[in-house]
Amino acid sequence: HLSKRLATVAQYVPDGARLADIGSDHAYLPAALLIQKRIRYAVAGEVAKGPFENEQKEIQRLGFQKQLIPRLADGMAAVHPDDQINVVTIAGMGGSLIARILDEGQAQLAGVQRLILQPNVGEHQVRKWLMNHQYQIMAEQMLAEDGHVYEVIVAEPTVCPVRYGAKELLFGPFLLEKPTPIFITKWQQELERCQNAVNQMHQAATVPVERLQRMQQKINLIKEVLSHDD
Ligand code: SAM
Repeated sequence: HLSKRLATVAQYVPDGARLADIGSDHAYLPAALLIQKRIRYAVAGEVAKGPFENEQKEIQRLGFQKQLIPRLADGMAAVHPDDQINVVTIAGMGGSLIARILDEGQAQLAGVQRLILQPNVGEHQVRKWLMNHQYQIMAEQMLAEDGHVYEVIVAEPTVCPVRYGAKELLFGPFLLEKPTPIFITKWQQELERCQNAVNQMHQAATVPVERLQRMQQKINLIKEVLSHDD
């Protein structure tokens, strides 16, 4: 049984995929997709020994040794040419780490037709990387679970990606189109957090001007977007 968060990621994995789940920990996501017979084959990549061992245990428990391969590796290095991976999922990490994994994994991404990414924070860094590396965002979803708000970003390679401005990169082009109650709550909280941060910066002995300006820009964007939904 998958969490709502991982079930949302799973929803975007096409049937019959050959999947690489990077940072898989217990390999719950590929295992659930194999149980549902939704995918043919999967690699569960892990950089850390403990989570890698969790993968091995789960695979053994389910008897998936042939279809689900655990690999101890940094990022996309878990993917070998013979795997013929065509879909990649990366969930439950910060956006900057996801962007780094994609950036360093460009060789292994050559044959991949879809990326399903679930950054916990720093979503704009993921969108920016995608836009600058010939990926088109195809769908986005926001969900709340256990008091956390999560975003799922689905992207596919394209020759000519849509160019997004600061607003779309921050809020998400699809999420921005129809703001849900979760969206409003998330950004109201983020606005408060930013305003507190700005107040603290003003009280500092030396005011960090650049950070202050960046934060103020973000505050203005959030206010603008929230004001459309009064
Ligand atoms: N993907 C699962 C999920 O969403 O529930 C597990 C998320 S867990 C919070 C993040 C995992 O990513 C950790 O097990 C960590 O070891 C792994 N990780 C972090 N950096 C990684 C990297 N560069 N390559 C592979 N795995 C990485």
